[in-house]
Amino acid sequence: MSDCIFCKIIKGEIPSTKIYEDDEFFAFKDLNPQAPIHTLVVPKKHITSLMDMEEADAPLMGRLLYRAQEIAKLQGLGEGGARFVFNCKGDAGQTVWHIHCHILGGKRLDDGFGAK
Ligand code: AMP
Ligand code: ZN
Repeated sequence: MSDCIFCKIIKGEIPSTKIYEDDEFFAFKDLNPQAPIHTLVVPKKHITSLMDMEEADAPLMGRLLYRAQEIAKLQGLGEGGARFVFNCKGDAGQTVWHIHCHILGGKRLDDGFGAK
């Protein structure tokens, strides 16, 4: 999609710090990290949000989850663990309308949303 910033990042039209790329996925550092490791994993196919995916996208999104956990391990999070988040639409705070999985880790996420 021509006016999507993540499509532009995938095409190299906007700079990013690339962590991983293959035929289907692109992963890069979040510009405004919320944890010592904060990586975004996106499919190269433009899908607006998790709640806009079609059933035909299910195998792609399954592979995205597999890649995301691999990328987390590549970044040293295999032992300590990580949080994998999809913000979906307004109430969840989605700000970029190209589906993305946040990988957050590198510290204990004591924010009342999980780890205690
Ligand atoms: P969300 O709020 O779930 O839609 O997350 C969008 C994320 O994209 C935010 O955490 C932003 O910091 C991040 N972001 C926005 N623009 C860029 C960019 N140009 N490069 C890297 N991360 C970005
Ligand atoms: Zn896009």
